[in-house]
Order: sequence, then structure tokens, then C-alpha cells
Amino acid sequence: MGYTIHELHEQLVKKEISAVELTKKIMAHRDAVEGDIHAYLSTSDKAALETAARVDEKIAKGEEISDLAGIPGAIKDNMCIKGETCTAASKMLEHWVSPYDATVIEKLKKEDFISLGKTNMDEFAMGSSTERSAFGPSRNPWNTDYVPGGSSGGSAAAVAATEAIWSLGSDTGGSIRQPASFNGIVGLKPTYGLVSRYGLLAFASSLDQIGPLTKDVTDAAIVLNAIAGHDERDSTSIPQEKKDYRKALIRDVKGMRIGVPKEFFGKGIKPETKEAIDKALAFYEKEGAEIVDVSIPHINSGVSVYYIIAPAEASSNLARYDGVSYGFRAEGKDIIDMYIKTRSQGFGEEVKRRIMLGNYVLSAGYYDAYYLKALKVRTLLKQEFDEAFKKCDVIAAPSASGTSFKFGAFSDPLSLYMEDICTVPVNLIGAPSISIPVGFKDDLPLGMQLIGRTLGEETILQAAYTFEQAHPEFTRTAPKGEIKEIGKLLRLKNAGNR
Ligand code: GLN
Repeated sequence: MGYTIHELHEQLVKKEISAVELTKKIMAHRDAVEGDIHAYLSTSDKAALETAARVDEKIAKGEEISDLAGIPGAIKDNMCIKGETCTAASKMLEHWVSPYDATVIEKLKKEDFISLGKTNMDEFAMGSSTERSAFGPSRNPWNTDYVPGGSSGGSAAAVAATEAIWSLGSDTGGSIRQPASFNGIVGLKPTYGLVSRYGLLAFASSLDQIGPLTKDVTDAAIVLNAIAGHDERDSTSIPQEKKDYRKALIRDVKGMRIGVPKEFFGKGIKPETKEAIDKALAFYEKEGAEIVDVSIPHINSGVSVYYIIAPAEASSNLARYDGVSYGFRAEGKDIIDMYIKTRSQGFGEEVKRRIMLGNYVLSAGYYDAYYLKALKVRTLLKQEFDEAFKKCDVIAAPSASGTSFKFGAFSDPLSLYMEDICTVPVNLIGAPSISIPVGFKDDLPLGMQLIGRTLGEETILQAAYTFEQAHPEFTRTAPKGEIKEIGKLLRLKNAGNR
């Protein structure tokens, strides 16, 4: 594979390359493939090179640098970086410049992180393919006829195409895990409350969570180390001590109980997905894990519950985009006319559909029938997962029904919603989940989720790491991610794909 944070860090501290050299090389590669991939909505090369020079100075002076220092990354365009545009891939915020840093950015700045730019996404993170971006979709580096998934499709494609070594995404109903799966990389959705949401443009506040997209599991632990932690500016942030997630990178699953809920492997799941996960489970068993059958009967209600709760919260969160406080404004004959025109023209079709859905389920006549009912089923789902976790330590599930799909494959919005069946239950219960590559079908990657208990990041990282270390063939680099003539270090590291 090559090009990981941990490998590049080694080379930086050994002075085999400089951060400036590395940054310039990834930028040049980005510029060479970006015409095909469109992972980025904006770039920040000047700031990136300034930080890289600072890191090189520290190395020259013999100062210690953090694991992430000087390694080029990318940030989904719904997280605020002071002085940079933050568009959420919406016309509504096309020219909006953030006046402050999100907490994750503040934390990353302390680590001398480098961002090559802000990545493309479905508008306001609503979608599963980046086809809902107001600025055109991103494409899958494995095959550009296929979508990169979504909504963090740009973040995933950037990493798979080595236009960044790592990135941040946000996951409200699968938007880190599904694109990770479609791009053959690792995506981690942390426990709700582990990573601060301050400075993340809100979609559905009880579900949103920021997490890393990386080339491998070690890198996921490194990025999580940098961004996790209590933040008093986010009232749902969990007060807890800082952990070193790298300590969980142990190649051992002896005695670990891996639960397999049959409901996750229903009709819609493709045979190749089942086959790849079965093989992974056989591997775990051989390594000494115990595979246990568990049941979560309400899995199939997950999509219905999610598509009531998420739009309800979105309708409230997006009320602020009214042409007064932020971004786009369409002129009208009076203030009401201005509101109507601004929101009609500023939002795309999917965002408007969700706002209408949300207002409908929250309206006086329907609140009990839909919203309240959905909250009750959400509680049931949580109880069922809690029961399952009495019998197991980790739950294995598909990350998506199959590999990526072609552009335009889902013209009906409802059928695209159904595709979220594997991921949304995890957000509804707030659990952590990691998607790792487990196979290929027709040269497109397949992913598996390992879901943990609340704050069970270490267990899922350990299970993921154990599988990954034994299966380097699944973490190979996408064709568009291969970097030729990139200097000594990358040429060496890429020889033979590891
Ligand atoms: N695909 C889901 C949706 O459209 C999830 C999106 C997300 O996680 N941000 O809402």
C-alpha cells in the first residue's frame, strides 16, 4: 500500500524526506488526478506549505513532532477552518468564510497538521454518492464510472487516490463508513460524543459525528488520538480521559466474541458481500475468536426511523439559512419573499425534500404518529443492541449492500435511502463502528463494519487491526492513487504494493 501516516512519519523523523517535499509531491499528484476525481472543493496550498516548513524546522532542531505533523490531509467541507470557505457543498454557503476553527481543527493545529483543502460531499451531508453536491460529484478512484459513496465521498476519494494521506469525514447515517467501503480504505465513526461537533455544520445533531478516513487501521488510531476528547463547547461531548488508541493495535482476537446478527444479512445484501464477510469471520474463528449468533429484530426499521429523525433535526438546524445571517441571499420584494426566494434557490432538491419531510413529521398533527414513534423505536433498537452486546464484544455487519454503483443508478430517492440499511442503526444507538476493506468484486472494493459498545473503540480497532495485518491484499492502492516518480521514499514504499 504505502503512503500511510505512520510510514511517512518514520521517514520524516529519519530525515529521509522533508515535510515540504512530501507536501509538494502530494499536491502535484492531486493536481494531476483531480480532473478525473474532483475530490476537492477548495485548496489551501499556501498554508499547507507554511506548516510543512515549520515542521521541517522542528525536525532540523531535533524537536519531537507529533504523529500527524507534516502529513498532508484533507477536511470535509462541513467543518470550519478559520479564514477558509466552508460550503457544505451548497450554493447557500458558496462564498461563506468561516470566522473560527472547529474544535477538531483547533486540536489538529496543535499537532502541526497539514490540510491540502476542503473536500466535496453531498449537500449538507445528505446523500450517499456525492451526486447531491451543488458543485458536481466526485468520482471513484477505482473506476471513475462509479460513485465514491457519500456523503463524505470527496474525503474518501481523496485518500484512495492519494490526493491526501488521510482525511476527516462526518457520519450521520453512514457517511464515513460507506464511502470508506466503496473506496477500499478504513473509515471510523467514533462513539457519539467522543469527538466534538463544535464547528461542524449541523445536519442531525443527535446523530452527527466526525471521524477519520485513512489508508489503514493504524492511521485511523493516530487521527482519532488527535481529534478525540472532551469539549465544553459541545454539550453532548463525553467527559473522559484522553486515551492512546494506538495501544489497541494488537494482533490478537483470542477469546473475543464476534456477534453476527442475521438481520444484517437480509435479502438486499449481495452474495459477494456475504461471502467476503463469511471469509473474514472464518479467519477470526481460526485466530481464536468465538463467532456468536445474535439478533437485532428492529434492524429493518432503522431506515424508517432514521429518515424521520434525521430530517426532523435537519429542518430545525437548517432554519438558520434564511438569507440574513449567512451566505446566499436572493432579493425579494419584502422580507418573506426574500426568505422564500433565498431558500428556494439556495438549497438543492434533496435538502428541500428533507426540510419538508422534517417539518411534516414535527407538525402538530403528525408529531405523535411519526416523530414520537420513531423515538420509541430508536430506544427499542438501543435495547436490542445492548442485549446483543451481553453475548458479544463486537458486531460484524456489511458496510454497504455491495460495491459502489454507477452514477445515476438510483434515480428514485427512496431506493437510495434503502441503501443506508447497514449503517444508520449504528448512528441511532450512538455506537462506534469501523469499516475495513474485506475483498473485491470486479475490481471494486467491499467493506465490513465492526461495531463496538459505547466507547468500545479499542476493541473494534484491535479486531480491525488483526484482520488487516493478515490481509494486505485488501488494502492495496487504487489505480488513481499510485504515485509515480515521487521521490525516493514513496517509490520505495510503493514497490510491490507493500
Ligand atoms: N446517506 C445518509 C443520508 O443521506 C447518511 C448521510 C450521512 O451520514 N451524513 O442521510
